[in-house]
Amino acid sequence: MAQITLDGIAHSFNPYPTSDADYALKNIDYQWEDGGAYALLGPSGCGKTTLLNIISGLLTPSNGRVLYDNNDMTLLTPERRNIAQVFQFPVIYDTMTVAENLAFPLVNRGVDSSEIDKRVADMLQTLEIADKANRRAQGLTADEKQKISLGRGLVRYDVSAILFDEPLTVIDPHMKWQLRTKLKSLHEQFGHTMIYVTHDQTEALTFADKVVVMLEGDVLQVGTPEELFDNPAHTFVGYFIGSPGMNIFPGTVAGKTFRLGSVDVQLNKGYSQLTGKTEIGIRPEFITLTSESKAGPQGMKFNLESIEDVGRQKIVRGNIEGIVVNVIVEEDTEVPREPYAIFDPERVRVYQDSFLVSGDR
Ligand code: ATP
Repeated sequence: MAQITLDGIAHSFNPYPTSDADYALKNIDYQWEDGGAYALLGPSGCGKTTLLNIISGLLTPSNGRVLYDNNDMTLLTPERRNIAQVFQFPVIYDTMTVAENLAFPLVNRGVDSSEIDKRVADMLQTLEIADKANRRAQGLTADEKQKISLGRGLVRYDVSAILFDEPLTVIDPHMKWQLRTKLKSLHEQFGHTMIYVTHDQTEALTFADKVVVMLEGDVLQVGTPEELFDNPAHTFVGYFIGSPGMNIFPGTVAGKTFRLGSVDVQLNKGYSQLTGKTEIGIRPEFITLTSESKAGPQGMKFNLESIEDVGRQKIVRGNIEGIVVNVIVEEDTEVPREPYAIFDPERVRVYQDSFLVSGDR
């Protein structure tokens, strides 16, 4: 297991980059703590796989260094880095049995045969495929093959880190949940440094202690699921995390008030020195809908468009001053026909040029 440091990592697939737009990764400094469970989360094309391949050694970065426990690994192959990597699609040997596939990484490293038997038996049990131990991998379903791939990544105890690139894409939804839970318990049991690439927030938030949110080759925020929910550092993080994501409104700040079209939103702090594009964000969970008579001066007219039942909650969709707003209410909440919205001032966040600002004391 190792602490992994990224020192000024940038990467361009263009051999002659001339501008920022030519870089798949812009400038990334980060330290992955020994034994941490991390998710790399972001939309398609933001650079997750590129970053993972730089960490594993499949790709050499255009700029910067990769250190494992302070040793420079930038130019070393994946084998020399002693990592395990699990890819989106199964990487297994069809002509070998399931047990032989699981044993392969251990045989390769000369592990004692009694130890191999023990670990393979453990892994077969963990992945609930013991009944298939002696079957050839050929002819197994995609799910089963991917389980074996995961097992091959997890069977070694001595790796510096285990890297996963969207490993559950081909797995059916029920099994996805099971395997994710399994990965989490294996992490707790063995304490490997794990880095898990996904564009699915549920996967990221349930697997990881810390989530690294990326956009267009930059890391926007690294935080626990709670930090990303409570204090998104960038409007994209607010929007991307949550279902539906944070509501974002353009406007102007004057002291402790935010002017949104013709209405004023109360803030819990003053914001004196704001320049550039100013926005506020509030999550759908922190807006209350009430009638005009109960709303008081804080109430903003909410133009109701639809109400969607999603089990124990309802998503109320509409707009305020023409800006799309989603509100989450408990399923038994009565939504007035002509609702007024009240924002909880403690939960309103202020953004300048898309980045969170903390406000005056
Ligand atoms: P996805 O979730 O779709 O896998 P990602 O976040 O993993 O996306 P990357 O695959 O790292 O994103 O791609 C980042 C950027 O680099 C994209 O613009 C992609 O088109 C580009 N890119 C990736 N691999 C190559 C390559 N071999 N040659 C040229 N451009 C590439």
